[in-house]
Amino acid sequence: MKKVLPGRVEIIAVGTELLGSHFVDTNSLYLSARLKELGWTVVFKTVVGDRPERLRLRLGEALRRTDLVVVTGGLGPTRDDVTTSAVARTLGRKRRLDKSVLGAIESRLRSRGIPLSSGSKKQAYIVEGAKVLPNRAGTAPGQWLTIGGKQVILLPGPPHELKTICEDNIWAVLMKKRRGFFVRRVLKTTGLPESTVEARVADLYPKRGDPGVTVLAYPGQIEIHLEAFSAVSRVQAARKLRRLNLGLVRRLKDCVFSQDGKTLEEVVGGLLRRLKKTLAVAESCSGGLIGHRLTNVPGSSAYFLEGVIAYHNAAKIDLSYVPARTIERHGAVSPQTALAMARGIRRRARSDFGLAVTGIAGPSGGTPDKPIGLVFVALAWRGGAEVRENLFLGTRDRIKIQSAQKALDMLRRRLLLEVRAVRRGQVL
Ligand code: AMP
Ligand code: MG
Repeated sequence: MKKVLPGRVEIIAVGTELLGSHFVDTNSLYLSARLKELGWTVVFKTVVGDRPERLRLRLGEALRRTDLVVVTGGLGPTRDDVTTSAVARTLGRKRRLDKSVLGAIESRLRSRGIPLSSGSKKQAYIVEGAKVLPNRAGTAPGQWLTIGGKQVILLPGPPHELKTICEDNIWAVLMKKRRGFFVRRVLKTTGLPESTVEARVADLYPKRGDPGVTVLAYPGQIEIHLEAFSAVSRVQAARKLRRLNLGLVRRLKDCVFSQDGKTLEEVVGGLLRRLKKTLAVAESCSGGLIGHRLTNVPGSSAYFLEGVIAYHNAAKIDLSYVPARTIERHGAVSPQTALAMARGIRRRARSDFGLAVTGIAGPSGGTPDKPIGLVFVALAWRGGAEVRENLFLGTRDRIKIQSAQKALDMLRRRLLLEVRAVRRGQVL
């Protein structure tokens, strides 16, 4: 079968500490991002401890299944740093002492008054045939080897050293041999569970994996990440992506709230601004999260007037003008209270919209009638109001996130109606 994506990469992160619970391999995130910009695709990431026999095994495998292998870590001066010798043995090559590397290490150490140890001297040994990649930020240089049609790059583990070497010696070279162009796009949806999103669009996924489709689930938000490749040009990759993108949006309709990276609060803010409308919120179980999200958007003072956390019943009455009778009769978590909060905060703030949330975030406080996760979200506007009942699953923080998401989405859908009405010359 014809290979769809050329330039396949494996990153091998070496270090016993990376197998434990305290350290994560962040180097590969940096490497993946930059390699992708140059048209390479990371197809495997491997973490292996400082054990030569295991590294040899993994390197052998990596050379069989990819075109470029980047090994990071294990180039230090200590006894557990075994990458150079393990790589040399795997490739059937010797190591050689590089005089200029040794000189650079000596002068670096001398400038700091440190004598040359046998460990530091070890760092001057490089695999025979490797191009030395000088390291301005530390003692261990990188090494670049070509074996048949394949390439192996060795880099030190400390992130600032790795980055310095890459910027000095690697990206410009790989740029000249760029493998192609990737274009990415993220469709953000809300209001549908992951399985429904998948069922609606799965038949549109390309059979050959290009464009690539990845579905990611967050509380109250399903994202579809698209990525197209072209060996020829960015424009050609974008064209491929656009076709799939259009198909997905046609199927998912208004559930797609963003195609350009914008957050839900940015989208809602943009719509409010466009309609020149204002908003106030009264939040109970979302605990201020809606206000926080809305005010994270620069310039939100143009449309966001005020938010209250009406948590206690007394606060619902005082701050969001809920009649005491409504709470007595229906309870604090009820559609009636949610509606009264939305209407009340709108009146209090003299805003165009009032948005309100009341519910049970748990882990205690649930009853058979009103279980944990029961959340009412209400929206009031001039001449109207609506309320929705939701049953969210999960921990307290996930219920808060979903409540805020649902409230913002309810507002977004109402604003979309108004935008469309304005376009048709109607007044809602
Ligand atoms: P080394 O080249 O193995 O001596 O690496 C030295 C230090 O670099 C380690 O102690 C880590 O703190 C850091 N390091 C090594 N590998 C990684 C990695 N993959 N991601 C982030 N930091 C790393
Ligand atoms: Mg190490």
